[in-house]
Amino acid sequence: MSVRGYVTRFAPSPTGLLHKGHAFSALTGFARAKAAGGRFLLRIEDIDFTRCRPQFEAALFEDLAWLGLEWEQPALRQSDHLADYSAALGRLEAMGLLYRCFKTRKEVLDAIGSAPHGRMEAYRGRRLGPAEEASRLAAGEPFAWRLALGEAQRLAGPLSFEEAGEGPRGEHGALPVDAGGAGDVVLARKDVGIAYHLAVVVDDARQGVTEVVRGRDLFEATHIQRLLQALLGLPAPAYRHHPLLSGPDGRRLAKRDRAETLRALRANGMTPEALRAELGFDA
Ligand code: GLU
Repeated sequence: MSVRGYVTRFAPSPTGLLHKGHAFSALTGFARAKAAGGRFLLRIEDIDFTRCRPQFEAALFEDLAWLGLEWEQPALRQSDHLADYSAALGRLEAMGLLYRCFKTRKEVLDAIGSAPHGRMEAYRGRRLGPAEEASRLAAGEPFAWRLALGEAQRLAGPLSFEEAGEGPRGEHGALPVDAGGAGDVVLARKDVGIAYHLAVVVDDARQGVTEVVRGRDLFEATHIQRLLQALLGLPAPAYRHHPLLSGPDGRRLAKRDRAETLRALRANGMTPEALRAELGFDA
């Protein structure tokens, strides 16, 4: 099948070594791009400088090349584009859709603690009055920028996104956006200055991504990302969420599964051909 102009990307964060699950994700995108005669891009999501390490970035380039993947050079590194994310943040602020949140993590948890299934992400707060805000700013208190979700949803109106794969409950096709689960999501962190969702939508648009191929763990994130695209006037890619691989303990593969890192597999004599075949791709 040839899909004209197909572009996808693999977007790892260099916070640890890549494991089999990453390999599956990258190979899925790579195979899609190849089948469509399209483009496969690599993006290093390294804005969280509290967790990202240069040695993990070096390792991921090496591991992906070992796996037999080829991506357009150079890979996009998010830390090279911080001004663009700030500009997008500024646009949302100018639209009156952001507010400063001075709450600590504990205060946020306390605020949602009484809610059933209270989740950190589901926090809904409020804009401070001008006098209180001015005095806290003058005192140099750190703050995060949060999206005023209700106002953002009203402005954007009803939205949908195209799921070409499957969500965790089999969701497929044109799906209505319901960003409520994300709450007043943080778009600029106190410590890091920017947050994941905003950087992802800016970069998916910048890179002309037509289909986002990624694990099902990010399915819920799509709702808020689609909302941000609409607010910023960015094009909406299609999404193809794939199942997550599980580790020997039956739980989803994660950094704790050291034996499943591409490094460890390679050290134990695994060849890229054998790994590709095991993951269901032509060796
Ligand atoms: N950087 C994210 C991660 O490693 C993936 C972002 C995405 O694919 O949208 O989990």
